[in-house]
Amino acid sequence: MVNPLDLVLPHIKALQPYSSARDEFSGSADIYLDANENALGSQGIGESWHRYPDPHAQALKGRLASIYSVEPANLFVGNGSDEAIDLLFRAFCAPGVHKALIMPPTYGMYQVSAGINNIEVVKVPLTTDFELDHQALEQTLAADPSIRLAFICSPNNPTGNLIALSEIEQVLSRFQGILVVDEAYFDFVGTDSATTLLGKYNNLVVIKTLSKAWGLAALRMGLAIGAPEVIEILNRVKPPYNLSGPSQQLALEALTSGHDKMLEAVAELNRQRLWLHQELLSISSVSTVYDSAANFLLVKFKPEVNATALYRWLTEKGVVVRDRSSQQHCDNCLRITVGTAFENQKLIEWLYQYR
Ligand SMILES: *Cc1c(COP(=O)(O)O)cnc(C)c1O
Repeated sequence: MVNPLDLVLPHIKALQPYSSARDEFSGSADIYLDANENALGSQGIGESWHRYPDPHAQALKGRLASIYSVEPANLFVGNGSDEAIDLLFRAFCAPGVHKALIMPPTYGMYQVSAGINNIEVVKVPLTTDFELDHQALEQTLAADPSIRLAFICSPNNPTGNLIALSEIEQVLSRFQGILVVDEAYFDFVGTDSATTLLGKYNNLVVIKTLSKAWGLAALRMGLAIGAPEVIEILNRVKPPYNLSGPSQQLALEALTSGHDKMLEAVAELNRQRLWLHQELLSISSVSTVYDSAANFLLVKFKPEVNATALYRWLTEKGVVVRDRSSQQHCDNCLRITVGTAFENQKLIEWLYQYR
């Protein structure tokens, strides 16, 4: 088994993390004069936000641990999953020394985060069916031991397909770095999360978010789930108060009382996706609607229709989709988020009118 502590950059391993007022005293007291907060309360709003929030988000983690069937020690909670991705780069990749592996077409943030951290990116594209290219992966990983971080997105954005756990395990069986499996859309699938592999692979990190199925994108709550020693490293590098008090409170409220509602919303969005998929197939300009396990569809248009021109035309009609036509294997493709029944209907009506 890979020991992730062997992969942590030495200066991070040696880091003495910031010790906040709430770290040095975590009991309860009558009078708090330790954190230079404003004793008179919050100014300008009726509510009380004058105390620093829990730096370890313990209440929230307790709830998340039970939802994802892991221990709180397996959980890093970040200001969006973007924060978790950035911290993985900072803890495990040194510029000019280590590289990251991505499999396009995929989520753009991996490459951006690599760029911010000055880490070279190696690309092993998915096959034209958007599956892992095992032969190329095997060759690339064997030839380049400096690859420290690899990203698999499942269901993949922008293609929507799920990557089977057995496929993911094939990569884990030969990769000596940290494998990140981004399951931002996994709640739309519901079974066989990569978290079930955590006991077997210490170098696996699974990303989740409250931005999609939970409908809490504005709260900025993203998770990294992994072996306790990896999570400890991320917690050491994060800013002490990375999750605001209002975000923690609202997320806890949603997670405590909203699980059934979330499942209902997922069921409705999945029904809407099937409806949209069928309707799109009946539109003459559409060439392919790719099967999706998420709340969006990747749609390829026929050569006589230019997807970018169609994208602009839809925008003029007040309907905004995502032009993905510049991405690998996605020529002439738009990515369409599943909306409400009304919104989906409107989109289909406009597409019928386009020529
Ligand atoms: C939307 C999305 C996320 C979520 O990012 P947040 O920062 O948590 O909002 C993560 N990964 C992928 C692939 C996504 O599409």
